[in-house]
Amino acid sequence: MSGMHDVIVIGAGPAGCSAAICLCLRGRAVTILEKNRQPWKKLCAGGLPPKVVGVLPANLEGLVEQSVCKIRFGYEGRRSFELAFKRPVVHLVQRHLLDQRLVQQAVGLGARLVEGAAVVELQPEAQRVLVKTTKHTYQARVVIAADGALGAGARLLGHQGIRLCPAVQVDVKLSRRKMKPYRNMLACDFGVLPGGIGWVFPKRDRLSVGLCSFGARANLKAALEKYLRIEGLDSGRISPIESHPLSTWDGRRVFSKGSVLMVGDAAGLVNPLTGAGIRRACISGQLAAEAAHAYLAGGAVCQKDLASYDRRVNADLVDELARARLLARLFYRAPGLFYRIGVMNARINPWVGELLSGQKSYLEVFRELLSGGWISRPRPL
Ligand SMILES: Cc1cc2nc3c(=O)[nH]c(=O)nc-3n(C[C@H](O)[C@H](O)[C@H](O)COP(=O)(O)OP(=O)(O)OC[C@H]3O[C@@H](n4cnc5c(N)ncnc54)[C@H](O)[C@@H]3O)c2cc1C
Repeated sequence: MSGMHDVIVIGAGPAGCSAAICLCLRGRAVTILEKNRQPWKKLCAGGLPPKVVGVLPANLEGLVEQSVCKIRFGYEGRRSFELAFKRPVVHLVQRHLLDQRLVQQAVGLGARLVEGAAVVELQPEAQRVLVKTTKHTYQARVVIAADGALGAGARLLGHQGIRLCPAVQVDVKLSRRKMKPYRNMLACDFGVLPGGIGWVFPKRDRLSVGLCSFGARANLKAALEKYLRIEGLDSGRISPIESHPLSTWDGRRVFSKGSVLMVGDAAGLVNPLTGAGIRRACISGQLAAEAAHAYLAGGAVCQKDLASYDRRVNADLVDELARARLLARLFYRAPGLFYRIGVMNARINPWVGELLSGQKSYLEVFRELLSGGWISRPRPL
């Protein structure tokens, strides 16, 4: 058994690193337990809406491989059209390089990183939490569980209010000439997988091509092979298919148990409409760090400081997720219909870019949808 730690963070992804960085900046000693060893690879398309930049605790200098101002929408490769925006709607990075940058930042500020430490069980007790790894048992006054969709943190709350949506992705390496159509443009397809979404996210010399199902069970591998054919990418150098679930929000309101605070994918904070989760991973990591810092500063009697974490996540993140979930439930139930009347509607589709880039909130989109202006004055594409 280790000595008593003030804070242990489990997982060194965006949520864990954000929490660790925030705590280090407040002068706290932090230990990060990470099951992998560097360099590790988390399956991700690496899309960062510009509004992420404000909450990422490290700079993106040299990491952004493309900033896209165009989106090509399609429905099973048909009814496709391009939308152009004045400003970039998504910056694209290679995810493992982003994680490396975040880890360097945390360690540079004094966090202790223990690699190869897979946490198998969390045991919250009155004044401490026991953190059992495959090798050692640690004890800490506060634990921030940032161990993703399948980790011990999510298990502790029994995955209630989290919907694990299966996703697959490959990297396709292409010659410069074949990369040309994807310069400054990403592609989204809503029909290749019923109740799901397909994406082509371009990097400097490769494309991340993936699919996620938000609806019924489907053969994602076969659907991805079909999507690659539709996009004309099946002759490129394709990496083996990898899979990892998206930990989408499905009504959860509790994000802690005793002195264990769940953040990022461990809390199920992925957008159920788009599959994006990095921004909320960073924000929740910072909120948990602030709650842990207040708790440790006030002594063990200040359990209410930890409870404030649940309130802050509900206030800052959950309302927008609930609206995204409502939209997702409608959209993915009849994607063909909503693609025609929504995505292809020239009055509505600019909102997609505005939502992605953060210029518009889901609340504003709902208000505009309910105002009905987009129905009374239709404008053809
Ligand atoms: C195919 C795919 C594409 C995606 N594309 C995008 C995108 O373009 N943009 C976007 O915003 N989001 C995207 N997401 C979602 C995004 O990847 C997650 O929301 C984000 O990574 C969450 O960060 P996190 O730190 O909470 O968890 P993670 O990034 O999963 O990090 C968890 C960390 O904990 C470690 N860990 C796990 N278990 C243990 C354990 N037992 N003990 C110790 N350590 C452990 C892991 O090794 C990892 O380092 C995508 C997801 C998928 C699956």
